[in-house]
Amino acid sequence: MAYDTNNIFAKILRGEIPCKKVHEDEFALAFHDINPQAPIHVLVIPKGPYESMADFSAKATEAEIAGFIRAVGTVGRQLGIETNGYRILANHGHDSRQEVPHFHIHVFGGRDLGSMLGKPRA
Ligand code: AMP
Repeated sequence: MAYDTNNIFAKILRGEIPCKKVHEDEFALAFHDINPQAPIHVLVIPKGPYESMADFSAKATEAEIAGFIRAVGTVGRQLGIETNGYRILANHGHDSRQEVPHFHIHVFGGRDLGSMLGKPRA
């Protein structure tokens, strides 16, 4: 499937819609999730046009992958949640209920995050 250049995160990257920015560098942009699921809920997205984890891991350059993962670590540090802990999560495709077709890692923190997985669809 071709990358949709009109997805909401592509628009954020182009500055067409605003975000509450946490961090930006050559490889990544991080901003607060609009519908937070924890006291801290930040999204980290690569700057390149990758639809999901599958796409990013297959097609991104080593520099892009390294830079992106470093940015996720930097965000955890900058948010002050490294000591108490945080959870990262990336949804890929239907079964994960991925909504936005631009690869992103969720960073959750600020409280005890409970067990790992929610319930499946009824
Ligand atoms: P996913 O289900 O992994 O694709 O998650 C998409 C996430 O993007 C959800 O947690 C949404 O709340 C979040 N989201 C959607 N639109 C925006 C936006 N304009 N700014 C920040 N977060 C957004």
